[in-house]
Amino acid sequence: MHKAAYIIQNNSNLQCVLCPHNCIIKSGKVGICGVRRNSGNEIVTDVYNKISAMHNDPIEKKPLYHFFPGKNILSVGSIGCNLKCKFCQNWEISQTSCNEYNYLKSITVSDIIAEAKNDPNNAGIAYTYNEPTVWLEFMFDIAKEAKQSNLKNVMVTNGFINKEPLAELLTIIDAFSVDLKAFKESFYKAQTFSSLKPVKQAITTIAKSEKFIEITNLIIPGLNDKTQDFTELIKWIKNECGINTVLHISRFFPNYKMNISPTPEKTLLNFYNIAKNELNYVYLGNTNSKVGHDTFCPNCGRKVIKRMRYDTIVDGLDNAGNCLNCNFNILPPENYS
Ligand code: SF4
Repeated sequence: MHKAAYIIQNNSNLQCVLCPHNCIIKSGKVGICGVRRNSGNEIVTDVYNKISAMHNDPIEKKPLYHFFPGKNILSVGSIGCNLKCKFCQNWEISQTSCNEYNYLKSITVSDIIAEAKNDPNNAGIAYTYNEPTVWLEFMFDIAKEAKQSNLKNVMVTNGFINKEPLAELLTIIDAFSVDLKAFKESFYKAQTFSSLKPVKQAITTIAKSEKFIEITNLIIPGLNDKTQDFTELIKWIKNECGINTVLHISRFFPNYKMNISPTPEKTLLNFYNIAKNELNYVYLGNTNSKVGHDTFCPNCGRKVIKRMRYDTIVDGLDNAGNCLNCNFNILPPENYS
Protein backbone atom coordinates (compact mmCIF):
# COMPACT_ATOMS: atom_id res chain seq x y z
CA MET A 1 0.00 0.00 0.00
CA HIS A 2 1.31 3.44 -0.90
CA LYS A 3 0.06 6.58 0.79
CA ALA A 4 -1.77 8.91 -1.56
CA ALA A 5 -0.67 12.50 -2.08
CA TYR A 6 -2.95 15.55 -1.99
CA ILE A 7 -5.10 14.37 0.91
CA ILE A 8 -6.49 16.79 3.47
CA GLN A 9 -8.48 16.45 6.65
CA ASN A 10 -11.95 17.97 6.20
CA ASN A 11 -13.59 17.97 9.65
CA SER A 12 -13.69 14.25 10.51
CA ASN A 13 -13.32 13.16 6.87
CA LEU A 14 -10.40 12.51 4.56
CA GLN A 15 -10.64 14.37 1.28
CA CYS A 16 -8.62 13.86 -1.91
CA VAL A 17 -7.85 17.22 -3.53
CA LEU A 18 -5.88 15.89 -6.50
CA CYS A 19 -8.59 16.68 -9.03
CA PRO A 20 -11.61 18.99 -9.03
CA HIS A 21 -13.95 16.22 -7.89
CA ASN A 22 -12.38 16.73 -4.43
CA CYS A 23 -13.79 13.40 -3.24
CA ILE A 24 -14.50 12.81 0.41
CA ILE A 25 -13.65 9.13 0.75
CA LYS A 26 -15.20 7.16 3.58
CA SER A 27 -13.53 4.18 5.22
CA GLY A 28 -13.34 1.20 2.85
CA LYS A 29 -14.50 3.25 -0.15
CA VAL A 30 -12.72 4.54 -3.25
CA GLY A 31 -12.93 7.93 -4.96
CA ILE A 32 -14.64 8.52 -8.30
CA CYS A 33 -11.48 7.44 -10.12
CA GLY A 34 -11.73 3.98 -8.55
CA VAL A 35 -8.10 3.70 -7.44
CA ARG A 36 -7.70 5.97 -4.38
CA ARG A 37 -9.03 4.21 -1.30
CA ASN A 38 -9.65 4.94 2.36
CA SER A 39 -7.91 2.03 4.09
CA GLY A 40 -9.32 2.89 7.51
CA ASN A 41 -7.08 5.68 8.70
CA GLU A 42 -5.48 7.02 5.53
CA ILE A 43 -6.02 7.33 1.77
CA VAL A 44 -3.85 5.00 -0.28
CA THR A 45 -3.32 4.56 -3.98
CA ASP A 46 -4.10 1.04 -5.17
CA VAL A 47 -2.01 1.40 -8.33
CA TYR A 48 1.47 2.40 -7.19
CA ASN A 49 3.96 0.14 -9.03
CA LYS A 50 1.08 -1.38 -11.03
CA ILE A 51 0.69 -1.05 -14.77
CA SER A 52 -1.83 -2.33 -17.27
CA ALA A 53 0.28 -1.71 -20.38
CA MET A 54 3.76 -0.73 -21.52
CA HIS A 55 4.62 -0.29 -25.22
CA ASN A 56 7.30 1.47 -27.21
CA ASP A 57 5.12 3.72 -29.39
CA PRO A 58 5.92 6.29 -32.07
CA ILE A 59 5.63 9.63 -30.27
CA GLU A 60 3.16 10.71 -32.98
CA LYS A 61 0.66 8.27 -31.45
CA LYS A 62 0.28 10.33 -28.25
CA PRO A 63 -0.40 12.53 -30.34
CA LEU A 64 2.66 14.81 -30.27
CA TYR A 65 3.78 16.09 -33.67
CA HIS A 66 6.18 18.88 -32.65
CA PHE A 67 8.05 17.10 -29.85
CA PHE A 68 10.92 14.91 -31.04
CA PRO A 69 9.18 13.91 -34.31
CA GLY A 70 10.15 10.46 -35.55
CA LYS A 71 11.25 9.23 -32.12
CA ASN A 72 9.69 6.47 -30.05
CA ILE A 73 8.48 6.90 -26.51
CA LEU A 74 8.02 4.21 -23.88
CA SER A 75 4.33 4.48 -23.04
CA VAL A 76 3.08 3.33 -19.66
CA GLY A 77 -0.48 3.10 -18.35
CA SER A 78 -2.30 1.84 -15.29
CA ILE A 79 -6.04 1.75 -14.51
CA GLY A 80 -8.70 4.22 -13.36
CA CYS A 81 -9.86 7.63 -14.50
CA ASN A 82 -11.45 10.70 -12.92
CA LEU A 83 -13.72 11.13 -15.96
CA LYS A 84 -16.53 8.85 -17.13
CA CYS A 85 -16.54 9.57 -20.85
CA LYS A 86 -19.26 7.62 -22.59
CA PHE A 87 -17.05 7.43 -25.69
CA CYS A 88 -13.82 6.29 -23.97
CA GLN A 89 -11.55 4.28 -26.27
CA ASN A 90 -9.69 2.69 -23.35
CA TRP A 91 -12.66 1.99 -21.11
CA GLU A 92 -11.47 -1.53 -20.21
CA ILE A 93 -8.61 0.00 -18.21
CA SER A 94 -10.06 3.43 -17.38
CA GLN A 95 -13.47 2.42 -16.03
CA THR A 96 -12.37 -0.30 -13.65
CA SER A 97 -10.75 -0.85 -10.26
CA CYS A 98 -8.20 -3.22 -8.74
CA ASN A 99 -11.02 -5.50 -7.56
CA GLU A 100 -12.33 -5.94 -11.09
CA TYR A 101 -9.21 -5.82 -13.24
CA ASN A 102 -7.08 -8.98 -13.22
CA TYR A 103 -4.24 -8.06 -15.54
CA LEU A 104 -2.23 -5.52 -13.55
CA LYS A 105 1.48 -6.16 -13.59
CA SER A 106 3.87 -5.13 -10.80
CA ILE A 107 6.88 -3.18 -11.97
CA THR A 108 9.56 -0.97 -10.45
CA VAL A 109 10.73 2.49 -11.46
CA SER A 110 14.13 1.10 -12.44
CA ASP A 111 12.56 -1.59 -14.66
CA ILE A 112 10.72 1.13 -16.59
CA ILE A 113 13.80 3.34 -16.92
CA ALA A 114 15.85 0.36 -18.14
CA GLU A 115 13.20 -0.50 -20.73
CA ALA A 116 13.17 3.09 -22.02
CA LYS A 117 16.95 3.13 -22.34
CA ASN A 118 16.86 -0.11 -24.32
CA ASP A 119 15.73 1.62 -27.51
CA PRO A 120 18.33 3.93 -29.11
CA ASN A 121 15.52 5.85 -30.82
CA ASN A 122 13.66 6.51 -27.56
CA ALA A 123 12.92 10.09 -26.44
CA GLY A 124 11.64 9.24 -22.97
CA ILE A 125 8.56 8.02 -21.14
CA ALA A 126 4.88 8.84 -21.74
CA TYR A 127 2.28 8.47 -18.99
CA THR A 128 -0.78 7.52 -20.96
CA TYR A 129 -3.48 4.94 -21.88
CA ASN A 130 -5.51 5.76 -18.75
CA GLU A 131 -5.53 9.13 -16.96
CA PRO A 132 -2.11 9.46 -15.28
CA THR A 133 -3.36 12.08 -12.81
CA VAL A 134 -4.99 9.28 -10.81
CA TRP A 135 -1.64 7.50 -10.42
CA LEU A 136 0.35 10.67 -9.90
CA GLU A 137 2.53 9.23 -7.11
CA PHE A 138 4.04 6.50 -9.30
CA MET A 139 4.22 8.79 -12.34
CA PHE A 140 6.13 11.34 -10.30
CA ASP A 141 8.65 8.80 -9.01
CA ILE A 142 9.26 7.45 -12.53
CA ALA A 143 9.54 10.98 -13.92
CA LYS A 144 12.17 12.00 -11.35
CA GLU A 145 14.34 9.03 -12.31
CA ALA A 146 13.72 9.64 -16.01
CA LYS A 147 14.87 13.23 -15.68
CA GLN A 148 18.06 12.06 -13.95
CA SER A 149 18.63 9.74 -16.92
CA ASN A 150 18.10 12.52 -19.50
CA LEU A 151 14.82 11.00 -20.67
CA LYS A 152 11.91 13.31 -21.51
CA ASN A 153 8.61 13.04 -19.62
CA VAL A 154 5.31 13.25 -21.48
CA MET A 155 1.85 13.30 -19.90
CA VAL A 156 -1.23 12.46 -21.97
CA THR A 157 -4.08 13.87 -19.94
CA ASN A 158 -7.67 15.06 -19.79
CA GLY A 159 -6.46 18.17 -17.92
CA PHE A 160 -8.98 17.70 -15.09
CA ILE A 161 -6.56 18.38 -12.26
CA ASN A 162 -6.31 20.88 -9.41
CA LYS A 163 -3.83 23.77 -9.51
CA GLU A 164 -1.35 22.55 -6.87
CA PRO A 165 -0.67 19.08 -8.33
CA LEU A 166 -0.43 20.61 -11.80
CA ALA A 167 2.16 23.09 -10.52
CA GLU A 168 4.15 20.15 -9.13
CA LEU A 169 3.90 18.28 -12.45
CA LEU A 170 5.16 21.34 -14.31
CA THR A 171 8.46 20.91 -12.47
CA ILE A 172 9.03 17.48 -14.01
CA ILE A 173 6.90 16.91 -17.14
CA ASP A 174 8.40 18.24 -20.40
CA ALA A 175 5.43 17.94 -22.74
CA PHE A 176 1.67 17.58 -22.32
CA SER A 177 -0.84 16.17 -24.77
CA VAL A 178 -4.19 17.47 -23.48
CA ASP A 179 -7.71 16.59 -24.60
CA LEU A 180 -10.04 19.54 -24.96
CA LYS A 181 -13.13 17.45 -25.53
CA ALA A 182 -15.60 20.25 -26.29
CA PHE A 183 -16.21 23.90 -25.58
CA LYS A 184 -19.48 23.60 -23.69
CA GLU A 185 -19.92 22.95 -19.97
CA SER A 186 -23.08 20.99 -20.81
CA PHE A 187 -21.03 18.52 -22.91
CA TYR A 188 -18.48 17.98 -20.14
CA LYS A 189 -21.22 17.47 -17.56
CA ALA A 190 -23.37 15.08 -19.59
CA GLN A 191 -20.74 13.13 -21.50
CA THR A 192 -17.72 13.03 -19.17
CA PHE A 193 -19.04 13.57 -15.62
CA SER A 194 -16.64 16.47 -15.14
CA SER A 195 -16.44 20.14 -16.07
CA LEU A 196 -14.77 22.31 -18.69
CA LYS A 197 -13.56 25.21 -16.55
CA PRO A 198 -10.70 23.40 -14.75
CA VAL A 199 -9.56 21.87 -18.06
CA LYS A 200 -9.35 25.33 -19.63
CA GLN A 201 -7.44 26.54 -16.58
CA ALA A 202 -4.98 23.65 -16.83
CA ILE A 203 -4.40 24.25 -20.55
CA THR A 204 -3.81 27.97 -19.99
CA THR A 205 -1.41 27.25 -17.11
CA ILE A 206 0.63 24.77 -19.17
CA ALA A 207 0.67 27.04 -22.23
CA LYS A 208 1.92 29.97 -20.18
CA SER A 209 4.62 27.82 -18.53
CA GLU A 210 7.90 26.89 -20.21
CA LYS A 211 6.56 23.41 -20.93
CA PHE A 212 5.27 22.19 -24.26
CA ILE A 213 1.61 21.46 -25.05
CA GLU A 214 -0.39 20.02 -27.93
CA ILE A 215 -4.20 19.91 -27.80
CA THR A 216 -6.57 17.28 -29.20
CA ASN A 217 -10.25 17.84 -29.96
CA LEU A 218 -12.35 14.77 -30.79
CA ILE A 219 -15.34 15.66 -32.95
CA ILE A 220 -18.46 13.62 -32.12
CA PRO A 221 -21.39 14.01 -34.55
CA GLY A 222 -24.38 15.72 -32.96
CA LEU A 223 -22.62 16.35 -29.66
CA ASN A 224 -19.76 18.80 -30.21
CA ASP A 225 -19.77 19.44 -33.96
CA LYS A 226 -21.47 22.85 -34.11
CA THR A 227 -19.40 25.20 -36.25
CA GLN A 228 -19.99 28.11 -33.88
CA ASP A 229 -18.74 26.17 -30.83
CA PHE A 230 -15.71 24.93 -32.72
CA THR A 231 -14.88 28.45 -33.92
CA GLU A 232 -15.07 29.72 -30.32
CA LEU A 233 -12.77 26.90 -29.21
CA ILE A 234 -10.20 27.80 -31.88
CA LYS A 235 -10.29 31.50 -31.03
CA TRP A 236 -9.86 30.66 -27.34
CA ILE A 237 -6.80 28.48 -28.09
CA LYS A 238 -5.31 31.25 -30.20
CA ASN A 239 -5.90 33.91 -27.54
CA GLU A 240 -4.86 31.87 -24.51
CA CYS A 241 -2.12 29.64 -25.90
CA GLY A 242 -0.90 31.40 -29.03
CA ILE A 243 -1.02 30.99 -32.80
CA ASN A 244 1.73 28.31 -32.78
CA THR A 245 -0.22 25.93 -30.54
CA VAL A 246 -0.48 22.52 -32.19
CA LEU A 247 -4.08 21.31 -32.57
CA HIS A 248 -5.16 17.78 -33.51
CA ILE A 249 -8.73 17.42 -34.76
CA SER A 250 -9.61 13.79 -34.25
CA ARG A 251 -12.22 11.61 -35.93
CA PHE A 252 -14.71 9.83 -33.67
CA PHE A 253 -15.46 6.12 -33.98
CA PRO A 254 -18.16 4.44 -31.89
CA ASN A 255 -16.91 2.97 -28.64
CA TYR A 256 -17.98 2.03 -25.10
CA LYS A 257 -21.44 3.49 -24.42
CA MET A 258 -21.62 5.68 -27.52
CA ASN A 259 -23.03 4.16 -30.67
CA ILE A 260 -22.95 7.14 -33.02
CA SER A 261 -21.68 7.02 -36.62
CA PRO A 262 -18.07 8.11 -37.24
CA THR A 263 -17.40 11.80 -37.87
CA PRO A 264 -18.04 12.56 -41.57
CA GLU A 265 -14.85 13.45 -43.47
CA LYS A 266 -16.65 16.58 -44.69
CA THR A 267 -17.00 17.87 -41.10
CA LEU A 268 -13.33 17.19 -40.38
CA LEU A 269 -12.21 19.05 -43.50
CA ASN A 270 -14.50 21.98 -42.73
CA PHE A 271 -13.14 22.24 -39.18
CA TYR A 272 -9.57 21.81 -40.44
CA ASN A 273 -10.03 24.83 -42.72
CA ILE A 274 -11.61 26.91 -39.93
CA ALA A 275 -8.72 26.09 -37.59
CA LYS A 276 -6.05 26.69 -40.25
CA ASN A 277 -7.36 30.25 -40.65
CA GLU A 278 -6.42 30.95 -37.02
CA LEU A 279 -3.60 28.58 -36.04
CA ASN A 280 -0.31 27.72 -37.72
CA TYR A 281 -0.27 24.01 -36.99
CA VAL A 282 -3.44 21.95 -37.38
CA TYR A 283 -3.60 18.20 -37.98
CA LEU A 284 -6.28 15.59 -38.57
CA GLY A 285 -6.25 12.33 -36.62
CA ASN A 286 -7.89 8.89 -37.11
CA THR A 287 -8.43 9.57 -40.80
CA ASN A 288 -6.76 8.78 -44.11
CA SER A 289 -7.70 12.17 -45.55
CA LYS A 290 -5.28 13.70 -48.04
CA VAL A 291 -4.63 16.77 -45.86
CA GLY A 292 -3.80 17.33 -42.22
CA HIS A 293 -0.79 15.08 -41.68
CA ASP A 294 2.34 16.88 -42.87
CA THR A 295 3.94 19.98 -41.35
CA PHE A 296 4.32 23.04 -43.55
CA CYS A 297 6.33 26.15 -42.77
CA PRO A 298 3.76 28.85 -41.94
CA ASN A 299 6.11 31.49 -43.37
CA CYS A 300 7.14 30.12 -46.80
CA GLY A 301 4.86 27.08 -47.19
CA ARG A 302 7.63 24.49 -47.60
CA LYS A 303 6.76 20.96 -46.45
CA VAL A 304 9.20 20.31 -43.57
CA ILE A 305 7.90 17.10 -41.96
CA LYS A 306 6.22 14.28 -43.92
CA ARG A 307 4.00 11.77 -42.17
CA MET A 308 2.53 8.55 -43.53
CA ARG A 309 0.53 7.13 -40.62
CA TYR A 310 3.27 6.75 -38.00
CA ASP A 311 6.23 6.96 -40.37
CA THR A 312 7.77 10.39 -40.01
CA ILE A 313 10.44 12.01 -42.17
CA VAL A 314 11.91 15.30 -40.98
CA ASP A 315 13.75 16.68 -44.00
CA GLY A 316 12.99 20.40 -44.05
CA LEU A 317 14.44 21.59 -40.74
CA ASP A 318 17.92 22.52 -39.58
CA ASN A 319 19.32 21.33 -36.25
CA ALA A 320 17.66 24.20 -34.40
CA GLY A 321 14.18 23.34 -35.75
CA ASN A 322 14.17 26.15 -38.33
CA CYS A 323 12.80 25.89 -41.88
CA LEU A 324 15.66 25.08 -44.28
CA ASN A 325 14.11 27.39 -46.86
CA CYS A 326 13.40 30.60 -44.90
CA ASN A 327 14.86 30.01 -41.41
CA PHE A 328 11.45 30.40 -39.71
CA ASN A 329 11.48 28.58 -36.36
CA ILE A 330 9.01 25.69 -36.38
CA LEU A 331 10.11 23.35 -33.57
CA PRO A 332 11.47 24.82 -30.35
CA PRO A 333 15.14 23.69 -30.35
CA GLU A 334 14.64 21.85 -27.03
CA ASN A 335 11.97 19.69 -28.72
CA TYR A 336 14.20 18.48 -31.45
CA SER A 337 17.96 18.35 -31.17
S1 SF4 B 1 -8.17 11.84 -8.02
FE1 SF4 B 1 -9.82 10.35 -7.69
S2 SF4 B 1 -10.20 10.32 -5.49
FE2 SF4 B 1 -8.98 12.17 -5.95
S3 SF4 B 1 -10.52 13.77 -6.20
FE3 SF4 B 1 -10.10 12.97 -8.24
S4 SF4 B 1 -11.61 11.35 -8.60
FE4 SF4 B 1 -11.62 11.82 -6.39
